[in-house]
Amino acid sequence: MSAADAQDYAGQRARLVAEVEAMYADTRMHTGLAVMSPQVRAALAKVERHRFVPGGQQALAYRNHPLPIGSGQTISQPYIVALSTDLVAPQPGQRVLEIGTGSGYQAAMLAEIVQKVYSIEIVPSLGKEAAERLKTLGYANIEVRIGDGYAGWPEQAPFDGILVTAAAPQVPQALVDQLKPGGRLVIPVGAAHDAQELLVLTKRADGTIERRSVLPVRFVPLVPGK
Ligand code: SAH
Repeated sequence: MSAADAQDYAGQRARLVAEVEAMYADTRMHTGLAVMSPQVRAALAKVERHRFVPGGQQALAYRNHPLPIGSGQTISQPYIVALSTDLVAPQPGQRVLEIGTGSGYQAAMLAEIVQKVYSIEIVPSLGKEAAERLKTLGYANIEVRIGDGYAGWPEQAPFDGILVTAAAPQVPQALVDQLKPGGRLVIPVGAAHDAQELLVLTKRADGTIERRSVLPVRFVPLVPGK
């Protein structure tokens, strides 16, 4: 890639940040978030989304749209990635679990902010490709595992935050169990290919759960493991 291309992509990312910021303002009545947090804005401006989209689609990488990544899966819309990241409220030093590695883009966004990201992908080819891509890009703080996200990652639990990037018919109890007190689970819940709601579940100090519906969304379905 030439220096001119790199500069062009950086410019496109800056425009994307402005677009996502505008969408935050438009949706603040639902989300309660009027602006992106500084750390999410910095990550969105930095992570090179064009390296996470399939060959030939680089020109579309900085549009505020989802894109197909193969195996019937998609890399989510940048606004949704930014918002989901903000809803997890990630902090430096934390350990976060992602379900649905896909391209690895969401994992990279989280890894810019927290200490360690664990990410589970059920489609082996996607998971392997994402792990290689993230390694090439220098993300030493992301661990990808091939498996069924419904079960979470008990060996590494509990987590400060859990982000599910595919829609579940209901909230998997294993994920609630693997959340630290004070931790947040962000998950789209609803029927496959139908209206879903993005939920934020916060575990209180006494272990009880506070549940907030943030936004109507449309994610690909979480597939049940075998
Ligand atoms: N976060 C991704 C996009 C996710 S699309 C990114 O940033 O690119 C949803 C992903 O969840 C797909 O890759 C899909 O294969 C995966 N998935 C679906 N069901 C799953 C399950 N039960 N466990 C783990 N991953 C799953």
